[in-house]
Amino acid sequence: MALQGGCACGAIRYEIAGETLPRVVCCHCRDCQTHTGSAFDLTAFVAPDDMRILGRPVAAPRLSPRGMRTTLHACEVCFTPLYVVHEASPGWLLLRCGTLDDSEAIVPAVHMFTRSKQPWITLPEGVPAYPEFPPADDFRALTGR
Ligand SMILES: [Zn+2]
Ligand SMILES: [Zn+2]
Repeated sequence: MALQGGCACGAIRYEIAGETLPRVVCCHCRDCQTHTGSAFDLTAFVAPDDMRILGRPVAAPRLSPRGMRTTLHACEVCFTPLYVVHEASPGWLLLRCGTLDDSEAIVPAVHMFTRSKQPWITLPEGVPAYPEFPPADDFRALTGR
């Protein structure tokens, strides 16, 4: 059965092909905190061909603090952020994993930008964590991307 998710109001639903979620990245940077309106971002790299979207998200392009072009796709009714297309990750949709129906599937494979994480968050032992962005080789090995 495909993984399913959607926005808070139900106007947009999606399905991801495959049984297991791609590995999840937890980013604690300030930009992600602002962009999610929360303490961190949970992202999974999904191939566009694997994602079937029912409904029509609106696109909000912007420049990240590091000057990268990034476009958030959100529900135009309830503004739930669904996925991001990021210049740094061409060819991938960066799924906002909190929109999945089955939130048990969300277990971060790596934590990054922990230097700016909220002080009350205790990271789990045994999960790789980096103060900033991981070295590219580490990131590829950890995420498969
Ligand atoms: Zn909605
Ligand atoms: Zn971030």
